[in-house]
Amino acid sequence: MQSISRKDLIRRACSFAEPFRISSGESFRLEDVDPEDTLHLEAEDKPLAKEALTMGIELLAEYQDKLYAQDSWGLLLIFQAMDAAGKDGTIKHVMSGVNPQGCQVSSFKAPTSVDLDHDYLWRCMQCLPERGRIGIFNRSYYEDTLVVRVHPELLEHQKIPPELVGKDIWKERFKDIRHFESYLSRNGIIVRKFFLHVSKKEQKRRFLERLNNPEKNWKFSAADIRERAFWEDYMAAYEDMIRHTASDEAPWYVVPANNKWFTRVAVAAAIIETLDSLNLRYPKVGEEARRELESARQALEAEKA
Ligand code: AMP
Ligand code: MG
Repeated sequence: MQSISRKDLIRRACSFAEPFRISSGESFRLEDVDPEDTLHLEAEDKPLAKEALTMGIELLAEYQDKLYAQDSWGLLLIFQAMDAAGKDGTIKHVMSGVNPQGCQVSSFKAPTSVDLDHDYLWRCMQCLPERGRIGIFNRSYYEDTLVVRVHPELLEHQKIPPELVGKDIWKERFKDIRHFESYLSRNGIIVRKFFLHVSKKEQKRRFLERLNNPEKNWKFSAADIRERAFWEDYMAAYEDMIRHTASDEAPWYVVPANNKWFTRVAVAAAIIETLDSLNLRYPKVGEEARRELESARQALEAEKA
């Protein structure tokens, strides 16, 4: 494994990301993605996959350093999933090697009264990554087409003038989101979206683990069981959302999430693929700046002590 060249690693990363990338949603069907899928890898390949992930994480750190130095592009990574699909763990592992100064994580929970006094994009806009940074959204404005769609009574709390809430509201939101994401892309903020696709059966197994293991009790919330009862509605909402908001500039990656080790590899691969496509370079120092560096070097070397 250690002998893998950088070029090889990037090529492999692309091969792990590509099968899950949805750039055009018309024909997308959630049932075509198997949450158990691990491509050609078997359970006994797990140690190899972990090793590859470690190398991928090192590569990500290198890209992030260049992104920061260039101070031009920004990267927004959006994570959406059902409860216990592994969003938090994936974010923790995949970003473990990057410099915290270049990374901002924002988690979006039920909106506050201040949030509800604004349009639904408002709270997310305030957390967009700066140029040179990676911004991670743990949930996002997409919740306003998911949980709010599954529980339409939440829409009433959004205080939108009633005449603006019609039967096309979800289509309208998808359109606004598409435009918002292309606006970001046109400004150099790259958008990549991840749906970690876990099965209902695996969610049950993970909930039971949270209930049975005292160290995991804190992760369990009674609300999670309530939402589980709406599984089919959520799947339909996710599918429709992906169909309408997948684009070339802001693709969805629908990542199988029943095997955490695989989810992490696929997500890291997609981020590597994205950052590699930017051809990031450390900024070149101009003639004048080079002269300044040279005189600073001479001054330092001339110091007595
Ligand atoms: P967790 O990420 O598990 O801490 O849960 C956060 C909760 O906030 C989830 O149940 C989400 O569905 C909920 N949430 C996030 N955004 C919204 C929103 N815009 N409207 C209503 N609930 C939301
Ligand atoms: Mg939760």
